[in-house]
Amino acid sequence: MSTSKPTFVREVARIDDPKAASGHVVGHWARRLIDGRDPALTDPFVIMAEDWMPRGAFPLHPHRGIETVTFVIDGAVEHRDSAGHSGVIHAGDAQWMTAGRGVQHEENAPEGTIAHTLQLWVNLPAAEKMTEPRYQDLVGASMPVRLEPGVEIRVFSGESGGVTSPTLNHVPVTMLDVRIEPGAAVSQRLPASDNAFVYIYAGEAKIGAAAKLVRAGQLAWLSRSDEFESSELVLAVETSAVRLLVFSGRPLREPIAFGGPFVMNTQAEIRQAFADFRAGRFDPARAMC
Ligand code: MN
Repeated sequence: MSTSKPTFVREVARIDDPKAASGHVVGHWARRLIDGRDPALTDPFVIMAEDWMPRGAFPLHPHRGIETVTFVIDGAVEHRDSAGHSGVIHAGDAQWMTAGRGVQHEENAPEGTIAHTLQLWVNLPAAEKMTEPRYQDLVGASMPVRLEPGVEIRVFSGESGGVTSPTLNHVPVTMLDVRIEPGAAVSQRLPASDNAFVYIYAGEAKIGAAAKLVRAGQLAWLSRSDEFESSELVLAVETSAVRLLVFSGRPLREPIAFGGPFVMNTQAEIRQAFADFRAGRFDPARAMC
């Protein structure tokens, strides 16, 4: 008798490729790859923005109740918060910021440049929405790497083929930066009940057992199952190399209330967040007043 458990095979369930629109600052273009309107599909992910941003697109603003995961596709992003934390991330790097009870920060491209970025908002569970803010600067070149023939996977969070990331999670999230050369393929295990997607930022790949073709700029949501423990995602490339990100996360299945840069469980908590912000409680120097 076999003791191996059956595995759910992930397929492409939906492809999103929204148009970009110009922002409030000249030269800023943006699109919402995840727009928050379908939390049952996307939970624990609530928003993902793709930005082409000049300096000044994101001046000082607050967050509460989420983690923001910023991945730089091209250029660089300078980060500075009101507690005095600052840093720069470059192409191929990520910043994993836990806003928790409150962060006030600005995100900027260096003067005269355009930064091409993805920013994913990972929801925090109700019990951890007011956790201490935390930053993890994840330098691509320093992340653990899984190597297979023609395949290089940088493990930004979670695990791939026995290679485990040290990145700390509040919600278990897998984040992989994957490069596949022509003619190569790879299989990735993911918890079957996770919501998961693939975003292609260069080239094209065939995804799932049905080998659905997905191209650069497209975000492919994957099928999922509560009937299985484990699932398998197959990624294959024919003629042109691909660069893509895989994100997978355990759904929270909690009520969601949106309010600008805040994501909480109730409208009362959103009103409290705005009240705390107006009272200066997002400014660490005044937090004890
Ligand atoms: Mn922000």
